[in-house]
Amino acid sequence: MKIRLGFVSNSSVSSFLCAICDKLHSVMDGDPSSDPYSINTCKNSHSFCSEHILGSEDRKIELMKEALIISEKYNIEGIEDMSLKQLKQLFERDFSEDGYGEFKDERLYFFQTEFFTSLPEELCPICSFQTIRDRDLKEYLLATVIKEKVAEEIKEKFSSFQDFSTFLREKGIKHIQGTEWIY
Ligand SMILES: [Zn+2]
Ligand SMILES: [Zn+2]
Repeated sequence: MKIRLGFVSNSSVSSFLCAICDKLHSVMDGDPSSDPYSINTCKNSHSFCSEHILGSEDRKIELMKEALIISEKYNIEGIEDMSLKQLKQLFERDFSEDGYGEFKDERLYFFQTEFFTSLPEELCPICSFQTIRDRDLKEYLLATVIKEKVAEEIKEKFSSFQDFSTFLREKGIKHIQGTEWIY
């Protein structure tokens, strides 16, 4: 099985790593919406395990309500005036042994995929800067003047490339010294 970052669509089952904890997920046809119950994707295409979704239960319910109203595909009578208690009932999900986290209300069958594969930014740890990925840090670094300062620091601090590499490895970074072959 090939493991890649992000999605690939050249096989029926492909895998990707959670953007937060690196857990491996398999999806059909590179499509995270094929499993909206264990994989969540935000509006900016960050995909991660369910347990990383931010926000209180009440806030999530409020956002689901907003999304339902905007979507206009679901005819939930009186949703605008529902109390929090009623909304909690509406959005009840089945986490029992037979369930897989789907909404109990059948009218919301397609909403599951719609909402959990296009989560609002405030529920995403990356969009809300709660987690800053190494690759984002690197790209920021490369885009700023810090790049030159850091390059100077590397030259001053290490007497050889080998020293530099050893330093990174001691810090727990998987530093590859030579050419990185991809199969
Ligand atoms: Zn995860
Ligand atoms: Zn995001």
